[in-house]
Amino acid sequence: PFVITSPCESEKNASCTEVCPVDCIEEGKDMFFIDPEVCIECGACEPVCPVEAIYDEEEVPENEQAYIELNRSFF
Ligand code: SF4
Repeated sequence: PFVITSPCESEKNASCTEVCPVDCIEEGKDMFFIDPEVCIECGACEPVCPVEAIYDEEEVPENEQAYIELNRSFF
């Protein structure tokens, strides 16, 4: 699945929620999260994020790895 990372915190631009074809991005208190069980890995959300917070799980930077579990545990 794709994963939302720290740049989303306090940014919450929400452009990703408008392009996701399966509606699997939900709003948390400080940021948005992607439901890994529903994401179809289409990649549509990644380029529309103005703060580049979204990555394929395989490409999440070393210092953002904790967000993989944070997205998962939100659901
Ligand atoms: Fe939604 Fe596609 Fe992004 Fe997954 S990769 S969260 S399905 S827009």
